[in-house]
Amino acid sequence: MAYAIKKPGRTVADQSYVVEAVKGLGVTFKRFFQNTIGPAENRKTATIRYPEESRDYPERFRGVHRLTHRADGSPRCVACLCCSTACPAQCIYIEPAEYEADDPRHGYERYPRVFVIDELRCIFCGFCVEACPCDAIRMDTGTHVPASWKREHFIFDKETLMSIPGKDGTYVTANPRHEPGDPTHPGLDREKAH
Ligand code: SF4
Ligand code: SF4
Repeated sequence: MAYAIKKPGRTVADQSYVVEAVKGLGVTFKRFFQNTIGPAENRKTATIRYPEESRDYPERFRGVHRLTHRADGSPRCVACLCCSTACPAQCIYIEPAEYEADDPRHGYERYPRVFVIDELRCIFCGFCVEACPCDAIRMDTGTHVPASWKREHFIFDKETLMSIPGKDGTYVTANPRHEPGDPTHPGLDREKAH
Protein backbone atom coordinates (compact mmCIF):
# COMPACT_ATOMS: atom_id res chain seq x y z
CA MET A 1 0.00 0.00 0.00
CA ALA A 2 1.41 3.37 -1.01
CA TYR A 3 2.05 6.07 1.58
CA ALA A 4 1.76 9.78 0.93
CA ILE A 5 5.03 11.45 1.96
CA LYS A 6 4.48 14.63 3.86
CA LYS A 7 6.41 17.56 2.40
CA PRO A 8 8.45 19.67 4.87
CA GLY A 9 6.85 22.95 5.62
CA ARG A 10 8.78 25.87 4.13
CA THR A 11 8.02 29.51 4.37
CA VAL A 12 7.91 31.85 1.38
CA ALA A 13 11.22 33.31 2.55
CA ASP A 14 12.79 29.82 2.53
CA GLN A 15 11.45 29.07 -0.91
CA SER A 16 12.66 32.33 -2.41
CA TYR A 17 16.26 31.72 -1.18
CA VAL A 18 16.69 35.49 -0.96
CA VAL A 19 17.16 35.60 2.81
CA GLU A 20 19.74 32.78 2.82
CA ALA A 21 21.56 34.34 -0.14
CA VAL A 22 21.77 37.66 1.69
CA LYS A 23 23.06 35.88 4.82
CA GLY A 24 25.77 34.17 2.76
CA LEU A 25 26.82 37.44 1.14
CA GLY A 26 26.94 39.00 4.60
CA VAL A 27 29.52 36.43 5.72
CA THR A 28 31.50 36.93 2.49
CA PHE A 29 31.65 40.73 2.85
CA LYS A 30 32.40 40.51 6.57
CA ARG A 31 35.46 38.31 5.85
CA PHE A 32 36.44 40.48 2.86
CA PHE A 33 36.58 43.72 4.87
CA GLN A 34 38.09 41.97 7.91
CA ASN A 35 40.97 40.58 5.82
CA THR A 36 41.61 43.63 3.63
CA ILE A 37 41.04 46.88 5.50
CA GLY A 38 40.57 45.56 9.03
CA PRO A 39 43.31 45.52 11.72
CA ALA A 40 46.09 43.05 10.88
CA GLU A 41 45.62 41.13 14.15
CA ASN A 42 41.99 40.33 13.23
CA ARG A 43 42.75 38.95 9.79
CA LYS A 44 42.05 35.29 9.23
CA THR A 45 43.64 34.42 5.91
CA ALA A 46 44.90 31.00 4.87
CA THR A 47 46.94 32.52 2.06
CA ILE A 48 50.04 34.73 2.10
CA ARG A 49 51.16 37.58 -0.16
CA TYR A 50 53.63 35.53 -2.23
CA PRO A 51 56.26 36.35 -3.46
CA GLU A 52 56.67 39.25 -0.98
CA GLU A 53 56.04 36.73 1.79
CA SER A 54 56.95 33.06 1.77
CA ARG A 55 56.61 30.18 4.17
CA ASP A 56 59.56 28.35 5.69
CA TYR A 57 60.34 25.18 3.84
CA PRO A 58 60.77 21.92 5.77
CA GLU A 59 64.33 20.89 6.69
CA ARG A 60 64.40 18.12 4.07
CA PHE A 61 62.79 20.17 1.28
CA ARG A 62 64.20 19.18 -2.12
CA GLY A 63 64.98 22.44 -3.87
CA VAL A 64 66.70 23.38 -7.07
CA HIS A 65 69.87 21.38 -7.74
CA ARG A 66 73.43 22.49 -7.22
CA LEU A 67 76.75 20.95 -8.23
CA THR A 68 79.15 20.97 -5.31
CA HIS A 69 82.79 22.11 -5.46
CA ARG A 70 86.12 20.69 -4.41
CA ALA A 71 88.34 22.93 -2.30
CA ASP A 72 90.07 24.17 -5.49
CA GLY A 73 86.74 25.24 -7.01
CA SER A 74 86.52 22.44 -9.57
CA PRO A 75 83.36 20.34 -9.71
CA ARG A 76 83.25 17.40 -7.37
CA CYS A 77 81.40 15.48 -10.09
CA VAL A 78 83.39 12.69 -11.80
CA ALA A 79 80.94 12.35 -14.69
CA CYS A 80 80.10 8.76 -13.81
CA LEU A 81 76.56 9.19 -15.22
CA CYS A 82 74.94 7.47 -12.22
CA CYS A 83 72.57 10.40 -11.71
CA SER A 84 71.49 10.65 -15.33
CA THR A 85 70.97 6.87 -15.41
CA ALA A 86 68.86 6.94 -12.24
CA CYS A 87 66.79 9.96 -13.35
CA PRO A 88 63.26 8.78 -14.19
CA ALA A 89 62.49 12.01 -16.04
CA GLN A 90 65.65 11.76 -18.18
CA CYS A 91 66.32 15.42 -17.65
CA ILE A 92 70.07 15.25 -16.93
CA TYR A 93 72.56 15.49 -19.80
CA ILE A 94 76.28 14.98 -19.19
CA GLU A 95 79.30 14.98 -21.50
CA PRO A 96 82.33 13.56 -19.65
CA ALA A 97 85.90 14.69 -20.41
CA GLU A 98 89.46 13.82 -19.27
CA TYR A 99 91.53 16.08 -17.03
CA GLU A 100 94.78 17.46 -18.49
CA ALA A 101 97.79 15.11 -18.56
CA ASP A 102 99.56 16.93 -15.69
CA ASP A 103 96.52 16.65 -13.39
CA PRO A 104 96.69 13.82 -10.80
CA ARG A 105 93.13 12.96 -11.73
CA HIS A 106 94.10 12.33 -15.38
CA GLY A 107 93.39 8.73 -16.38
CA TYR A 108 91.70 8.05 -13.08
CA GLU A 109 88.51 10.07 -13.05
CA ARG A 110 86.71 12.39 -15.43
CA TYR A 111 84.93 15.69 -15.09
CA PRO A 112 81.68 16.90 -16.69
CA ARG A 113 82.56 19.07 -19.68
CA VAL A 114 78.82 19.60 -20.08
CA PHE A 115 76.30 19.08 -17.29
CA VAL A 116 72.74 20.20 -17.91
CA ILE A 117 69.51 19.71 -15.98
CA ASP A 118 66.14 20.59 -17.46
CA GLU A 119 64.50 21.87 -14.28
CA LEU A 120 61.13 22.13 -16.02
CA ARG A 121 61.12 18.42 -16.74
CA CYS A 122 62.48 17.39 -13.33
CA ILE A 123 59.99 15.82 -10.92
CA PHE A 124 62.21 16.56 -7.87
CA CYS A 125 62.30 12.93 -6.79
CA GLY A 126 65.87 13.21 -5.45
CA PHE A 127 67.05 9.98 -7.13
CA CYS A 128 70.03 11.79 -8.68
CA VAL A 129 71.23 12.87 -5.23
CA GLU A 130 70.80 9.35 -3.88
CA ALA A 131 72.64 7.82 -6.84
CA CYS A 132 75.70 10.08 -6.70
CA PRO A 133 78.75 8.31 -5.17
CA CYS A 134 80.66 11.59 -4.66
CA ASP A 135 78.14 13.89 -2.96
CA ALA A 136 78.54 16.01 -6.08
CA ILE A 137 74.90 16.90 -6.67
CA ARG A 138 72.58 18.17 -3.98
CA MET A 139 69.08 19.61 -3.62
CA ASP A 140 69.75 21.30 -0.27
CA THR A 141 69.50 24.81 -1.69
CA GLY A 142 66.34 25.63 0.26
CA THR A 143 64.81 27.38 -2.75
CA HIS A 144 62.89 26.42 -5.82
CA VAL A 145 63.50 27.18 -9.47
CA PRO A 146 62.70 30.85 -10.18
CA ALA A 147 59.59 31.44 -12.26
CA SER A 148 60.11 32.56 -15.83
CA TRP A 149 58.18 33.12 -19.05
CA LYS A 150 60.77 31.31 -21.15
CA ARG A 151 61.38 27.56 -21.23
CA GLU A 152 65.09 28.02 -21.93
CA HIS A 153 65.50 29.72 -18.55
CA PHE A 154 64.84 26.35 -16.92
CA ILE A 155 67.79 24.68 -18.67
CA PHE A 156 70.49 24.93 -15.98
CA ASP A 157 74.03 24.39 -17.27
CA LYS A 158 77.13 23.45 -15.27
CA GLU A 159 78.10 27.04 -14.51
CA THR A 160 74.62 27.85 -13.24
CA LEU A 161 74.44 24.70 -11.14
CA MET A 162 77.86 25.44 -9.64
CA SER A 163 76.89 29.04 -8.86
CA ILE A 164 74.10 28.02 -6.47
CA PRO A 165 75.13 27.62 -2.81
CA GLY A 166 73.57 25.32 -0.25
CA LYS A 167 71.16 26.94 2.17
CA ASP A 168 74.06 27.24 4.63
CA GLY A 169 75.86 29.39 2.03
CA THR A 170 78.59 26.83 1.27
CA TYR A 171 79.68 25.37 -2.07
CA VAL A 172 82.31 22.81 -1.05
CA THR A 173 81.48 19.32 0.18
CA ALA A 174 83.78 16.69 1.62
CA ASN A 175 84.55 13.77 -0.65
CA PRO A 176 83.31 10.56 0.97
CA ARG A 177 86.09 8.78 -1.02
CA HIS A 178 89.85 9.32 -1.26
CA GLU A 179 91.06 12.14 -3.49
CA PRO A 180 93.75 11.22 -6.07
CA GLY A 181 97.09 12.19 -4.52
CA ASP A 182 95.98 11.43 -0.93
CA PRO A 183 98.43 9.15 0.92
CA THR A 184 95.57 6.73 1.48
CA HIS A 185 94.57 6.71 -2.18
CA PRO A 186 95.28 3.35 -3.86
CA GLY A 187 96.67 5.10 -6.95
CA LEU A 188 96.34 4.25 -10.59
CA ASP A 189 98.38 1.04 -10.37
CA ARG A 190 96.59 -0.07 -7.19
CA GLU A 191 99.95 -0.73 -5.52
CA LYS A 192 98.56 0.38 -2.20
CA ALA A 193 95.26 -1.38 -2.63
CA HIS A 194 94.40 -3.78 0.17
S1 SF4 B 1 65.30 15.06 -8.87
FE1 SF4 B 1 64.64 13.20 -9.97
S2 SF4 B 1 63.75 13.93 -11.87
FE2 SF4 B 1 64.94 15.64 -11.04
S3 SF4 B 1 66.95 15.47 -12.00
FE3 SF4 B 1 67.05 14.32 -10.06
S4 SF4 B 1 66.56 12.19 -10.60
FE4 SF4 B 1 65.90 13.51 -12.32
S1 SF4 C 1 76.71 14.29 -10.16
FE1 SF4 C 1 77.42 12.44 -9.11
S2 SF4 C 1 76.23 10.76 -10.04
FE2 SF4 C 1 76.07 12.52 -11.43
S3 SF4 C 1 77.70 12.22 -12.92
FE3 SF4 C 1 78.50 13.55 -11.28
S4 SF4 C 1 79.50 12.14 -9.85
FE4 SF4 C 1 78.17 10.88 -11.15
